[in-house]
Amino acid sequence: MNPSTSPNPQVLLDVRGVTLQYKTQNHLVTATYRVDFQVCKSDRYILLGPSGCGKSTLLKAIGGFLTPAEGEIMLKGAAISKPGYDRMMVFQEFDQLLPWKTVKQNVMFPLLSSGKWKGRAAEDKAVCYLEKVGLMKFANHYPHMLSGGMKQRVAIARGMAMEPDVLLMDEPYAALDALTRRKMQDELLHLWDDTHFTVIFVTHSIPEAIKLGNRILLLSPHPGQVRAELEGRSRDSTDRDEAGRLEAKINDLLFAGENMNQEAQHA
Ligand code: ADP
Ligand code: MG
Repeated sequence: MNPSTSPNPQVLLDVRGVTLQYKTQNHLVTATYRVDFQVCKSDRYILLGPSGCGKSTLLKAIGGFLTPAEGEIMLKGAAISKPGYDRMMVFQEFDQLLPWKTVKQNVMFPLLSSGKWKGRAAEDKAVCYLEKVGLMKFANHYPHMLSGGMKQRVAIARGMAMEPDVLLMDEPYAALDALTRRKMQDELLHLWDDTHFTVIFVTHSIPEAIKLGNRILLLSPHPGQVRAELEGRSRDSTDRDEAGRLEAKINDLLFAGENMNQEAQHA
């Protein structure tokens, strides 16, 4: 631990100087370089950056599926070394559910396999979260009977039902049509109003970041480095111009960085 920084009791997840690399046959790919950020309880924390900047890689490392080449990731003061039920993932792909299990069985699966809930308690928990995402009517359906948006709702219910320390969402709405995507974003905010869960949400969409996040980490193109961290909008904000100002600021930061990179390359 760096002795110069006294621990902030509100900090849930602490990403410190994290460099993430992939070893391929011929070379080493550096996906992120010395990334620092801190997520507090009940944050709707956004990782925003262009494709290939290492957002998914960062989320995988937080999930415990990758070990940093440099730096460390601490959850509630302890270094993350492996996957755990305290961090649940929701992916972009619609095939993340078990096709041979019903909707309810899918939501119950981690509850039971983690041993956190048993029998009737697991079923009640699954029902509670299926109700929250409006899918109780489909509890006995199989995944192939659902639309893409419904499948994502099941994956969200499954993640939330575990009541993890942090929900990790990797572009969960990117493959949905624009109208469904908007509806799902509104639903996520209503779910947050209800339970104030902590979420790290990856996106490359500036409007999505502004709509969902109370804090936004802006990452530079490959390899991902922190360009800035911005305060997003609070849920009770009545300032109608705030989104526009935030969008202008994000664009400024992105373009300022691009120009600097180009200048450096031509120097
Ligand atoms: P993002 O999610 O921001 O689009 P990724 O985290 O998927 O970015 O990828 C970051 C960088 O790491 C990219 O250059 C990508 O090509 C590379 N990368 C991702 N996964 C692998 C892998 N399994 N092997 C080698 N390189 C990878
Ligand atoms: Mg990605």
